[in-house]
Amino acid sequence: MREFGTVLTCMDGRIQRKVSDYLLTVFGVRNLDTITAAGMIRHVAADTDRTAMVLGDLDVSVAHHDSQDIAVVAHHDCAGNPTSDKVQRDQILEAMTRMRHRYPDSEVVGLWIDRNWTVERIRS
Ligand SMILES: [Zn+2]
Repeated sequence: MREFGTVLTCMDGRIQRKVSDYLLTVFGVRNLDTITAAGMIRHVAADTDRTAMVLGDLDVSVAHHDSQDIAVVAHHDCAGNPTSDKVQRDQILEAMTRMRHRYPDSEVVGLWIDRNWTVERIRS
C-alpha cells in the first residue's frame, strides 16, 4: 500500500469524512494530504487569487510525499462557490483536465457531493 494521495477540496465540514473515507479506499493509500479552501473547485478550474497557493501546496504533496493520486472535489450548497450544481460539475471536469495536464503521471479523480451528501465519481 502506498503512503499518500492528495485531495483538493472545500473546507466545508459536512463533506470531510465522506470524502476521506471514499478516497482512502479508491486510492488505496494510508494517508490523504488534504488541501482546503472555501469553494476550492473554482480555484482549480480557473486561475484566481488563490490558485498559486493551492498549487504550491499540491506540489509539496507530489514532490515530498510522492503522491500519485489527486482528487478534486465540489459539493452541493457550497458557500464558497455559490453557483449552480451544473456549473460546479463543469468546474470539476475543467479542474480534472488542468490537473492531468500539470501532473501527467498522476491518477486524477473528480468527486461531486450531491444534495443528499452522496459521493459521486465524475467520469471524464
Ligand atoms: Zn463548499
